[in-house]
Order: sequence, then C-alpha cells, then structure tokens
Amino acid sequence: MSDSPTLRHDSDHQQLALLADLAVPLEGQPPPSRRIYCNRNLRLDQIDVVGFDMDYTLASYKQAEIDRLSIEATAKKLVQKGYPDSLLSMKYRTNFPIRGLLVDKRLGNVLKTDRYRYVKKAFHGTRELTTEERRQAYQLKRVRPDPRRYHSIDSLFALSEVTVFSAVVDELDTPLAQIDYGQLFDDVRTSIDEAHRDGSLKEIITADLARYIEHDKDLAPTLHKLRSAGKKLFLLTNSEPYYTDAVMSYLLGGGLPEYPSWKSYFDIIVTSAAKPTFFTTANLFEEVGHDGQPHPHKVKELHRGRIYRGGSLAEFEKLTSEAGDRVLYVGDHIYGDVLRAKKESAWRTLMIIQELTDELTAMERLSAEIARVDKLEERLAALQDGLRGRQAMLKAVQRSLDEKPAAREREVELEAARQRLKRGIDRIRVQAKAVEAEHGELEAEVERAFHPFWGSALKAESELSSFGEQVERYACLYTDRVTNLLRYTAGHYFRGPRHRMAHE
Ligand SMILES: [Mg+2]
Repeated sequence: MSDSPTLRHDSDHQQLALLADLAVPLEGQPPPSRRIYCNRNLRLDQIDVVGFDMDYTLASYKQAEIDRLSIEATAKKLVQKGYPDSLLSMKYRTNFPIRGLLVDKRLGNVLKTDRYRYVKKAFHGTRELTTEERRQAYQLKRVRPDPRRYHSIDSLFALSEVTVFSAVVDELDTPLAQIDYGQLFDDVRTSIDEAHRDGSLKEIITADLARYIEHDKDLAPTLHKLRSAGKKLFLLTNSEPYYTDAVMSYLLGGGLPEYPSWKSYFDIIVTSAAKPTFFTTANLFEEVGHDGQPHPHKVKELHRGRIYRGGSLAEFEKLTSEAGDRVLYVGDHIYGDVLRAKKESAWRTLMIIQELTDELTAMERLSAEIARVDKLEERLAALQDGLRGRQAMLKAVQRSLDEKPAAREREVELEAARQRLKRGIDRIRVQAKAVEAEHGELEAEVERAFHPFWGSALKAESELSSFGEQVERYACLYTDRVTNLLRYTAGHYFRGPRHRMAHE
C-alpha cells in the first residue's frame, strides 16, 4: 500500500476521510502547539509498550481551580496550627509560581536559577528583589543544592506550596516580624500534605470532576490509535485505586463503543505505585479487589482488566519480560517519572509539560521582538569590541604623549589622535547605552509575555533554566498534552536536533 496522499481509489478516499476524522495531518508538521519535540531520536515503530502516568499526564488539571481548593484547605490547617486568622482571608496569586523554582528556606525567598544554578530572579513574598538585593543575598555564586536550605519545586502539584508560602510571607512579614522561614515552609508543606491525605480534597474533586479536570475528547482515540498499531498500554500512577477509577472513568468512560470500560484501554494497571521509589525498590505487586482492598495472594502474573497496587520496576520487568528500551513512558514529573525512569531503566520518556502551550504562544506572538533582542545583543557585543579597541589605542597614544615626543609636530599629531579617540569612545558609550536601554525594555516585555513574574519556565535569559536543562537532559521527547500523539503515525521517527559544538 502506498503512503502517498494522492487520491486514487475509493478505498483511499475512505481512508483519507477516516484519517481526517482523527485529525491526522497527511503531510507537514502539526502546528507548534500540537507538536511533540524531540531531544533524542526515537522511532515509534520500535516502541512496543507505552506507559502513562495519570495526574497531570492523562488528566490535565485546571490549575487555578485546583490550586484555589488546595490553598484554602491549607490556610485552614495553618490557622489550626496557631497561625493568625488573617491567613483565612489573605490574598494569593495562583499564577505566581512556575515549575523549577527553588524555595530558600533560610531567607524566605523564591528563586529561579539558570542551568549553572546562578540565581537569575528572586522574590520575597510576591515582591521582586532588586539586582542589588539579589547580589547581596546570593553573591553571584552558584546555589549549592543543599536540601536543608533549598527546596525544589518540580511538579505542578507543588506549585500551590509556593503560592501559599509567598502569600503568607506577604501577609506576615513586617520589618519587626521575626519569621522562621524554614519552619513556615515546613508547616505549609505538612498542611498541604494533610489536606490531601485526609481525603477531604479528593472527595471534593471526585464530586465535581468536570470542574477540576479537563475532558479531552481526543484521549480515547489517541489510546485507541496506539493499540491499533499493536502497542501494549499500561497505567502507572501514584494515585490510590478508588481515585484512579473515578478520574479514569471520567476521562475515558463512554469514549469509544469498542471499550466497555476505561480499564479495557490498558493491558496493565498499577495504582499507588509510590514513584520514584517504584524505580529503585523490589516491592511486590498486590491485586486490588472490588472492595478496594488488596488481595492476600501473591501476584505471579499481571492480568488485563485487573487493578494492582505498589510493585516496582524490577517486578514489572520480571513479570512482563518487556525489553526496557522498547517501553515509552509518558509522565509529567521531572523527578518521579522522567529522571528516575531514565536513570534506573532503559525506558524512553515523553514528558508532558503543560506550560509549553503558553511558552509557544508567547514565542509566536513576540517572534519579532525576540529576534530584535538577539540583534541588539549582537550590536552591543560589536560596540563593546569597538570600545575596547579604542580604549587600548587611547592608552598607547597617552603613553607616547607622556614620554614627551622630541618633535613638536609629532606631539600635535598625537594630541589630535587622542581627542579623536576620546570623541569616538564617548560616541560609542552613548550608542551602547541606547542599545542597552532598548534591550532591557524589550527583554522585560518578552519575559512578561512568557510569565508575569518569572519569564520563561524553560529559559533564563539566553541560557536554559535549571528546569529547562533537566527537560533537555532527561526527556527523550516532550509536548504539552498526551493527545498530541494523535497527530503522528504510530511509526513516526522523531529526530532530535543535531548537536553542534561552538566551532561547527
Ligand atoms: Mg503526574
């Protein structure tokens, strides 16, 4: 059969209609926001098994709604712990944090670092530190990853920790207040954990799933397409069996008539997986009964249609005998899903980065400004070169003048050169200042378009951010949602950028 999209037969015609139904482009790339980006070459036809995380991967949460829920529950817990009642009505910005930030528990700041761990932006509460304050606090040194002092925000789930922490700092920090920021941050985290653990949040979410979780009608066709191409699918989530069942039923229940239940899309279903330790221990799987309780018997095989809990990568590989490099795991958590899978197994990884949509929109909308920023940087570098050259020449001329030239004529000549160079230097300084001002303004505008507080999540000025660096290092592929897989054939060859060194 031909791959050519040319219409020849009726059957071709039907097939094209079918493909159009599935919104598959016949040629060319999907639009940027629907693309899957590639760091390391990956051929989908060499993948036999595709695994999925659930929260923030198959299930995209409506971030502002879910944060509000989590923050209000957390504020209540903090007040119960003895914090002032005013926290119940404090102002907070759910759009304040981004992934990849560091909380400095000693100074109570929140930081964005570049790939070399230099602090590029810092906020105290929701107030940005001035360049001078930032210099004083971090002395232009790399931040050492000391977990006693710094806590890294590496999942979307953890964003609300920063929202609450910064809001409380805004609320309670006065010049006279003595706040133990480390204690405060720990209290915020415990309160959020408690709110999640005591089930009150999950109860509210499962009672109104449509309010908290996006329903993407392309999800069922995406999974179906992978299955039709002969791939096995599995679900590997840290969520408990009952919550998984509720969310997955909402996402896939009644999606396609061929699938009587969400469970029929998967060959293996693992809940309460406790990633990242799933990847490093040898825990056994337990089967979950209809009552939600684990069966006492030992799991010797993983069966389709049943729900398991716990387990480990070692057990998974023993029971399924799938070659690790033929498994593609799709997850959103840089540490729990992507980094661990990469380090402990041969699994290939597709990372879901929900933020990518906004980044791509900003990039597209401000492409002219971004190009201009690059141009201005080049121009500034050229001006600085010119400046340095003239300064060196001026020094040489001055030296000759200081040596009192024998001939009067020579002295006049040197003096004229000195004046010319000085005028040149002044002129370049004025030009450089203007370029710097335009560059600063434009860069700030671009940053704001990416995110009002932090700029791009993946970049820090012209460098990668520490989050961007992790994505580049550990994710073979990345995209903003699972259903972008629908835009590619099941045998697609994803090619990474050809790496170039500076001399190439
Ligand atoms: Mg997740």
